[in-house]
Amino acid sequence: MNPMKILVTAGPTKEPIDPVRFISNHSTGVMGYAIAATAKARKHKVVLISGPTNILSPKGIRVSSVTTADEMLIAVKKHLKQVDCVIMSAAVSDYKPKKYNKKKLKRTNKIDKIALTKNPDILLWLGKHKKNKFLVGFCMETENLLQNAKKKLHKKSLDLIVANKVNKEKSAFGKEKTSVLLIDSQQSPIQIKNSTKAQIAGILLDKIEQLWYNKNPIKTV
Ligand code: C5P
Repeated sequence: MNPMKILVTAGPTKEPIDPVRFISNHSTGVMGYAIAATAKARKHKVVLISGPTNILSPKGIRVSSVTTADEMLIAVKKHLKQVDCVIMSAAVSDYKPKKYNKKKLKRTNKIDKIALTKNPDILLWLGKHKKNKFLVGFCMETENLLQNAKKKLHKKSLDLIVANKVNKEKSAFGKEKTSVLLIDSQQSPIQIKNSTKAQIAGILLDKIEQLWYNKNPIKTV
């Protein structure tokens, strides 16, 4: 089997407010690292772009470490030419502070607002520049999971989306087992119930390989 060249993004981004504070989210990177490790075990060529996490780099995988969404976009653009597939499992912060304060903000400053500005939507940008690359996105929804995920699949020109339902009781973040839907534009959604991130990574890669090799058959001499 011809190995694929796969770019995986993982973890959160951190958007600095001042030298000690930032805006971020609860992403741990477990999902992205599991995908990278599974893809590597299947002999694909893997590059991992990681936001700040506490996970050790998987053996034999090139890791590019970034902090902010802007840095992640630069790293994605740098590696894009060399890959067949991008899996955007990173939880990119949608907003960043409009202004970075070089000095630590003091309590005596009496700040009651921090002005925010939108970060680039990396996946939307990738969808516009994808050519024949295979694009996978993730989403977290509190309601209308299937409907909202399908909207994102089309809006961002994705080949596949992994949809997580979030509610108060169960977070999709961390090491816990979780349930997701895998949705593409052709077939019925695949429901993966109460599974580890490694199990989800395996089923996700099965689906990516199936769709990719269907379109790009392996040439035999
Ligand atoms: O639209 P929404 O943020 O729910 O989409 C989530 C997907 O978009 C994820 O795959 C995430 O990695 C990606 N994303 C991105 N850049 C952003 C926000 C989300 O690439 N600024």
